[in-house]
Parts: sequence; structure tokens; C-alpha cells
Amino acid sequence: MARVAIVTGGTRGIGKAICLALQEDGVTVVANYGGNEEKAKAFTEETGIPAYKWDVGDHQATLAGCERVEQEVGPIDIVVNNAGITRDGTLQRMSFEDWDEVIRINLGGCFNMAKACFPAMRERKWGRIVNIGSINGQAGQYGQVNYAAAKSGIHGFTKALAQEGAKYGVTVNAIAPGYIDTDMVAAVPENVLQKIVSRIPIGRLGHAHEIARGVAFLCAEDGAFVTGSTLSINGGQHMY
Ligand code: NDP
Repeated sequence: MARVAIVTGGTRGIGKAICLALQEDGVTVVANYGGNEEKAKAFTEETGIPAYKWDVGDHQATLAGCERVEQEVGPIDIVVNNAGITRDGTLQRMSFEDWDEVIRINLGGCFNMAKACFPAMRERKWGRIVNIGSINGQAGQYGQVNYAAAKSGIHGFTKALAQEGAKYGVTVNAIAPGYIDTDMVAAVPENVLQKIVSRIPIGRLGHAHEIARGVAFLCAEDGAFVTGSTLSINGGQHMY
């Protein structure tokens, strides 16, 4: 039987590309989204992939959402924690709400999804969790203390949970994308974006499908020996 995957924030941008890559690999895919109904409807019409709405930063809504997916589609074998938001600003200008919201959705979302799905994966002795971090969680970024902290937290979360899953056939990895041409990057002012691109050795923004192939590899049967790792896909912008 085909594996079942859920991709949070799967209806547009990088998440949509991840859904398509997993579908291409024969996985039964379900997408989650936060509230953009128009994009979700268009996504399902185009791909045939069902989309389920809930806020991944909400503990109870995430538990209920995953339970519904399990009842309607089947046990969840693969979780891709891709949902994310930015609320940029320097520390002086950043509100307490913008700090809380970015940590709650980006980092809290990974915890909530793992709480909902990891125990059963462990029992079934097979699972894949891929968390989408960021180059800005590795290197920091001016005006993003909230986002950089959340994404850096995701990288630590990944390594800790990988240790809990390793003996039970559950791998936990992260991908750290560089700058990718999605709605999130379209929000960056043109002059700032030009400076960013000038610092990317490959000389361009990345494409969503280039992140998706990395995720598909980590989710495959033969990704079984990779756990606790972070795969950087960033055009050479940050090497270490
Ligand atoms: P987009 O802004 O294009 O899409 C974000 C997705 O997350 C949407 O599907 C959105 O749903 C969903 N989402 C937002 N909040 C919630 C929530 N509370 N609950 C459930 N879903 C939610 O982002 P990208 O495709 O650019 O980014 C995807 C991931 O990759 C993010 O984690 C981002 O931080 C990370 N990343 C992106 C980079 C880039 O250059 N684009 C670089 C490095 C990392 P809806 O459509 O309903 O709003």
C-alpha cells in the first residue's frame, strides 16, 4: 500500500512543489493550509490532492486535523513540516505579538505535528519527518530575530527528535532552503532582493521544485540511513 504523507502549508509555494514531488514518487499526499481558501481550492482542482485547513500553531486543532486525515485517508507515515510565516522588523520595532506568532507557527507547528504523528510512527516502526528550516536559521538575518530563532530552533528540534526515532525506523531531518522564488520572497523589497541575489554564488534564486526533490529523497524508502541531518539547498550562499 502507498505511504501517506501530510505536507503542512502544502497548497502553494514550496509546500505545493513538495506535494507534487511526493505524488510523483507514488505517495498518497494530503496538504494542510492556514486560511487562503482561494489557493487551496485551485490547488485541489489542479492536483487532485485534498487540502485540510487548520492552524498548525494550535495544539488541539492539529491533533484533531491529523486524526481526521487518518480516518479519511489512512495512517500518516510521512510528515513534512513546511508551514511558515515571517513578521520581519528590527528588535526595537518588533511587537511581542510578532515574536509570539512566528515562534508559535514555525516552531510550535513542528512540535504539534510531531505530537500528533510521531508516537504511531514509532509503534509501526516506520516514519519520516522532514522539517523545513532556513538559511536564516543557520546564519541569522538582520530584521528577523523571531524567524531566525524559530528556524534555528527547528534545526535543534530535528536533531533531538531524530535520536528518539532512530531505533524505531523513524527518521527526522531538516532542509535549510536559501532564497526561493515564492510569495514569501516576493514580499522582500526589490533592492534588498538584488543584494541578496548578488551574494548567491549560483547567481539566482532557487526554485520550489529544487527543495522538493531533497524532501522526496529524505522521505523515500532508501533514505532510511539519513537521520538528524540538515540538507542545505541554497545555491552556495552559506557553506559550512
Ligand atoms: P509561502 O508564504 O508561499 O506559503 C506558506 C504556506 O504556509 C501557505 O500554504 C500557508 O497557508 C501556510 N501557513 C501559514 N501559516 C499557517 C498556519 N498557521 N497553519 C497552517 N498553514 C499555514 O511560503 P514558502 O513556500 O516560501 O515557504 C515554505 C517554507 O519554507 C516556510 O517554512 C518558509 O519559512 C521556508 N523557507 C522559505 C524560503 C523562501 O525563500 N521562500 C527560504 C527558507 C525557508 P495559506 O496559503 O492558507 O496561507
